[in-house]
Amino acid sequence: IRRPIVAGNWKMNGNLSLVKQMQEALGQSQLENMDSVVCPPFTLLSGFDAELIKLGAQNLSVYPNGAHTGEISAAMLQDLGCQYVILGHSERRAEQFESNELVADKVQVALAAGLTPIVCVGEPLEVRQSGKVFDYVASQLDAVTQVISQQDLLNVVIAYEPIWAIGTGNTATPEQAQEVHAFIRVHLGKFCQDAAAKIRILYGGSVNAANAAQIFAQPDVDGGLIGGASLKVEDFLAICQAAN
Ligand code: 13P
Repeated sequence: IRRPIVAGNWKMNGNLSLVKQMQEALGQSQLENMDSVVCPPFTLLSGFDAELIKLGAQNLSVYPNGAHTGEISAAMLQDLGCQYVILGHSERRAEQFESNELVADKVQVALAAGLTPIVCVGEPLEVRQSGKVFDYVASQLDAVTQVISQQDLLNVVIAYEPIWAIGTGNTATPEQAQEVHAFIRVHLGKFCQDAAAKIRILYGGSVNAANAAQIFAQPDVDGGLIGGASLKVEDFLAICQAAN
């Protein structure tokens, strides 16, 4: 019932040549049963043909316009044909000090503009070791559900990205992923049962062409948010195939 999504988070990587290769390869791929999304840096968004490729940004400003040097608004993203925006990535939470509340505000801004937020949640290693994963993820989710409507939740995508699995090659096991994904769905169900049944929950953290199928086979895993492997055309396509 839930259509899988595989989103490639290029982070601060890539160039016009990779845009060209990815555009060509994705344009020719036959992926009828899933949505593939490319989230390159802002500067490369316009290099893609947004008619053919679903695009996402990696951040947006909470402000609509004005004197905010270096920021990019939701309307600017829409102008480029962006449909998605990654919000609350752990790298932004750590490096740009984005709080749960700021992330929630950005989710509101994205929804108001008709962009689909891909909201990242996930615990650092210490939290997993102390057995507090559910509490940690619940507070990240609650900040969001506090500021949106039940109806809005239908237009949100969640990405569970345990920080210890990001860029480490140390992926969560399919069982570890499923356990948290199932928790997320049940927890969101307390806010809106209907939306929780329909919401796509992606797994992120060292997903590659070899391990994707096993992870995506879990009942509450509805695709992936892919970092490093999304920069290699063949690997990204193989991961998309695994979700198709
Ligand atoms: P890696 O796939 O490189 O571990 O990155 C995951 C991630 O952070 C995607 O947002």
